[in-house]
Amino acid sequence: QAKLDGKHGYRFYSLAMDQAVERRMHLEHELRGAWARGELDLVYQPVFRMEDNRLTGVEALLRWQHPVLGAVAPSVFIDVAEQSGLIDTIGPLVLEAACRQARAWQQALPAAAGLFVSVNVSPRQLRSAGFADEVRRALAATGLDARQLHIELTETAVIGDELRVGELLGGLRALGVKIWLDDFGTGFSGLSHLRRVPVDGVKIDRSFIADMLRDPDDLALTSAIISMGHSIGITVVAEGVETEGQFDILRERGCDLGQGYWLGHPLAPRAFEDLLR
Ligand code: C2E
Ligand code: MG
Ligand code: MG
Ligand code: MG
Repeated sequence: QAKLDGKHGYRFYSLAMDQAVERRMHLEHELRGAWARGELDLVYQPVFRMEDNRLTGVEALLRWQHPVLGAVAPSVFIDVAEQSGLIDTIGPLVLEAACRQARAWQQALPAAAGLFVSVNVSPRQLRSAGFADEVRRALAATGLDARQLHIELTETAVIGDELRVGELLGGLRALGVKIWLDDFGTGFSGLSHLRRVPVDGVKIDRSFIADMLRDPDDLALTSAIISMGHSIGITVVAEGVETEGQFDILRERGCDLGQGYWLGHPLAPRAFEDLLR
């Protein structure tokens, strides 16, 4: 009996595995030419200064609209791009497109004069030998001031290779580029990273913000991240601000910047321009 169950269990597992692998391979295949076919687009989510509610920047977020599959979630296709190495070609395209868009807005719209753009960079992209050059090339090609480019890294991107990553980030910061740690607080060793890796800011993970008003521990942790950030002189950003109540308490605790559905959804360039006008 046990043996039969085992065999059955194994079969089931193997079938599910096959399907998952097949789906990934299919996505990888489809993703390969997606940029060239115009299926990949950037949307931009506004980032506000909490003190006076002023728009200060945007985060560029990638979208994939597949003709048959529809919208594929970034959490899915970014992972496929990262695992398959496709990020090596998509990453630099995203970087340059985001810089170009920010520069165009700065020049065309008075409300966007000092606007920064924040670009997500995956672990593999950060580690590729040419990353610093990619950044320099994107800035040179678009004319964006380095100080208005922010790079968002997750804690997993800086784990391990701290010495080399620290050096790389130091070089980018010397240009004026700002480095932010994304989804901050979800990794266990957030504080120790801040000692070894030079960053200009942290983005408090939205899971803390989501439960802040219900869970005293999350509120305490959020407050602690804000004071810790300020005591070491870095910018603190809250992501996933969905309600006015969350916004008010973050402002009261001195959080510098905020981003989230209550403040503004990610928007296609056209819609963003309407907002700016
Ligand atoms: P992230 O960098 O932490 O981006 C924030 C995510 O939260 C975005 O999801 C955004 O749409 C969503 N969000 C913003 N405000 C709210 C809110 O108030 N409530 C909730 N529930 N969500 C909110 P998205 O666009 O699905 O992106 C997911 C992740 O995919 C990003 O997380 C980032 O890690 C990655 N990603 C997106 N675009 C790129 C890219 O161009 N390159 C790389 N390497 N990764 C990217
Ligand atoms: Mg981000
Ligand atoms: Mg985040
Ligand atoms: Mg995230």
